[in-house]
Amino acid sequence: MESLLFGTGGTPNSTPPPNSSVAGIARIAELGLDCMELEFVRGVHMNQTTALQVAAAAKRLSIRLTAHAPYFINLHSADLEKIEGSKYHIIQTARIAVPCGVESIVFHAGSYEGDSPENAYPVVKKNLAEVHERLKKEGITIRIRPEVLGKSAQFGTIEEVLNLSSELAGVLPTIDFAHWHARTGKYNTYKEFAEILERIEKKLGRDALDNMHMHISGIKYGAKGELSHLNFDESDFNYKELVKALKDYRVKGFAICESPNLEEDARRLKDTYNEL
Ligand SMILES: [Zn+2]
Repeated sequence: MESLLFGTGGTPNSTPPPNSSVAGIARIAELGLDCMELEFVRGVHMNQTTALQVAAAAKRLSIRLTAHAPYFINLHSADLEKIEGSKYHIIQTARIAVPCGVESIVFHAGSYEGDSPENAYPVVKKNLAEVHERLKKEGITIRIRPEVLGKSAQFGTIEEVLNLSSELAGVLPTIDFAHWHARTGKYNTYKEFAEILERIEKKLGRDALDNMHMHISGIKYGAKGELSHLNFDESDFNYKELVKALKDYRVKGFAICESPNLEEDARRLKDTYNEL
């Protein structure tokens, strides 16, 4: 990608009714933001006609799109039906995301479910490889991205998502910096953010930093990690130093804001970036 784009996870809060994806895209443009994540987090309920309207609106207003697959995906489950369902939900997201003009899909890989991370990894990897194969057969080449998750019981450390990305075709990470801070209690300084970026480049090459998909927000956390998302002003998350690191490392791609106030913190990220 040619630059770093800022936008919201879902339609902005200030989108006028009806709160549709098309109306959200128009509002993103009015706010001077660049991109929006379509939220299929409660299931894929969009039809092809709407998808084409979304694509047309995004193209007309030069707004770029990502998508978030349903929350109930778990590629590491003892329940085989649940695993098959999870693969289906990622594929369904991709099938509707493509006509929308979406460029990148993020999903939560699942949880350890009492298993060790070492045992969970090959299971998630195998299932994700199958998703990729099935998408390939359908001629869908969109990138699917496991997200860095905020709770210690969830599959999705930086190491896990980088390993999946380096070992599987069609897979790249979604780096959620707030989740990683919540999960570790660390990674909240310029030096630590830079360390993450260097790790990505070392593992996946410069191309990964040129095509990033990130989530950024304030966050509330406890001993087991993430509790809830917060606005920057209510949180200790050091977004200013993160933005500086993103600028210094010439990171390009999508910076999706997931603070509850969505567009306010997204604008703050973009303004902070532009003022540097
Ligand atoms: Zn997510």
